Amino acid sequence: MLDNLGSNLKDALRKLAGKTVIDRAAVEELVKDLQRALLQADVNVKQVMQLSQTIKKRALDEQPPKGVTAREHVLRIVYEELVALVGQKVEVTLGKQIILMAGLQGSGKTTTTAKLARFFKRKGMRVAVICADTFRPGAYTQIKTLCDKVHVPCYGDPSEHDARKIVREGLAQLKEEVIIVDTQGRHALEDDLITEIIDLNEITKATHRWLVLDAALGQQAREQARRFHEAVSIDGVIITKMDGTAKGGGAMSAVAETGSGIVFIGQGETIEDLEWFDPNSYISRLLG
Ligand code: GDP
Repeated sequence: MLDNLGSNLKDALRKLAGKTVIDRAAVEELVKDLQRALLQADVNVKQVMQLSQTIKKRALDEQPPKGVTAREHVLRIVYEELVALVGQKVEVTLGKQIILMAGLQGSGKTTTTAKLARFFKRKGMRVAVICADTFRPGAYTQIKTLCDKVHVPCYGDPSEHDARKIVREGLAQLKEEVIIVDTQGRHALEDDLITEIIDLNEITKATHRWLVLDAALGQQAREQARRFHEAVSIDGVIITKMDGTAKGGGAMSAVAETGSGIVFIGQGETIEDLEWFDPNSYISRLLG
């Protein structure tokens, strides 16, 4: 959770609430405070500038609706623009689906795969996982152990080096409604990693391609989002390790590269620490 951002935003709004008149100077001061808070949380500079311009323009140009004070109106605008900043709401359906997990090594992809398996299982779905990470030694054991904990079958073959073959065989065998495919990661965006994820997307005809981003990445998250989106058209982002950083705004703003939104956020190392993301309630909590 972006605790610092939350308290800085609340301070800015409290300051506004204390003003006797909401004039241009008050709006300008508010916008400056918001900028500072968002930049400190590592939200992309361009997005911060756009957001502050929009807030300023709307706050100065729009007439408050009948019965709404100028102060309430400005608060409403800030709220709406912050919701827009974190991207659209991504619907999670409980039907038959194949989810392809994308992301670099260490992003938290394997842990998140198990968290998702637990999530769908608790929603009453039949779930299975395919371990297509043939790159990292121990990947199969790691995911298998996590899947065993939540009683979800895990298909894989630690002696096989061809991820495409594992996925084809896994799909032929598994009959579950939700199949989550954990793919390999690398420390960097190497070409064969990208080629493989493109192939796996074709083989699986994935319903969803979710990108896992580490909140601590900051502005580097942007490049990862761009490359994976170009490769397989990412339709949802999961931001992990939100519990460990005050700079999660960088990863949050990277979501814009995919034109999608945040589906879940990871809030800790254990399998329960996954939050279904709703932009409205997230911003309400941040400001509340
Ligand atoms: P992968 O290489 O992308 O599959 O990454 P892993 O799933 O192995 O995760 C890398 C490290 O990040 C492990 O130590 C995980 O326990 C840790 N991790 C994953 N998600 C979270 C999270 O939401 N919060 C915290 N604090 N740690 C996480």
